[in-house]
Amino acid sequence: MEGEGSILEVTGLEKSYGRNKVLKGVDLTVRKGEVIAIIGPSGCGKSTFIRCLNLLEEPDCGKIVYKGTDLVSADKKTRSETLKDIGMVFQQFNLFPHKTVMDNVTMAPQLVSKMSKEDAEAKAEKYLKLVGMDHKKNSYPTNLSGGQQQRVSIARTLCMEPELILFDEPTSALDPEMVGEVLSLMKELANDGMTMIVVTHEMGFAREVANRVMFIDEKNIKEEGKPKEIFENPKSPRLQEFLSKVL
Ligand code: ADP
Ligand code: MG
Repeated sequence: MEGEGSILEVTGLEKSYGRNKVLKGVDLTVRKGEVIAIIGPSGCGKSTFIRCLNLLEEPDCGKIVYKGTDLVSADKKTRSETLKDIGMVFQQFNLFPHKTVMDNVTMAPQLVSKMSKEDAEAKAEKYLKLVGMDHKKNSYPTNLSGGQQQRVSIARTLCMEPELILFDEPTSALDPEMVGEVLSLMKELANDGMTMIVVTHEMGFAREVANRVMFIDEKNIKEEGKPKEIFENPKSPRLQEFLSKVL
């Protein structure tokens, strides 16, 4: 059943790589406008989980119900229609180095949404301005700083006008002085009402911006709650240990 206002309902999600069972039945409900932070030690399956949500990894079983449609059991056509709504921002930006900022940002709207070049460029102007990168539209990614590249990749995602954006450690590849500019942009998006699921090691961001924090560890011991509960009153020993290392 879809809960009130929920946009995404994940139940019993499982994923193995060979004999390595990484996700052992993960549940998560996300309401529209919520920001969910996913924290946990390296290798515990955070990327696997978030990549399953938009089917970059094929789940073994479970349900991923996005606005009433179960993506796991949906046919190819339904999947690709539904996935237009779900954007993703990667740790390594994943921009095409041989294409300009403008070409990077306008590619998906033209290819996936069949938008005209003119319309795609108008949209790109809007979102590049929003992320403060419109002055670099004719540059190539290699001539930009990491923080600038990540802001371009966020603009690229916004150009598809998604309802939900998945972020997989968006600031982990950045030099420390560039982390802030990307986090503050993400905070702006959150304040504007974007629904976001963010895998992050930035505990300050999780605490301040997230509505809920989900902790996963290698054994899939999971604790979920409001940031205040998770950071000030962690219940499981595993979470207590994790926080003692990262805070
Ligand atoms: P995290 O993002 O929390 O660091 P991952 O989801 O990347 O963790 O990885 C979880 C586990 O799954 C690790 O043991 C990792 O080695 C394994 N894994 C991830 N991706 C693959 C893959 N494509 N093939 C095989 N094993 C993988
Ligand atoms: Mg990861």
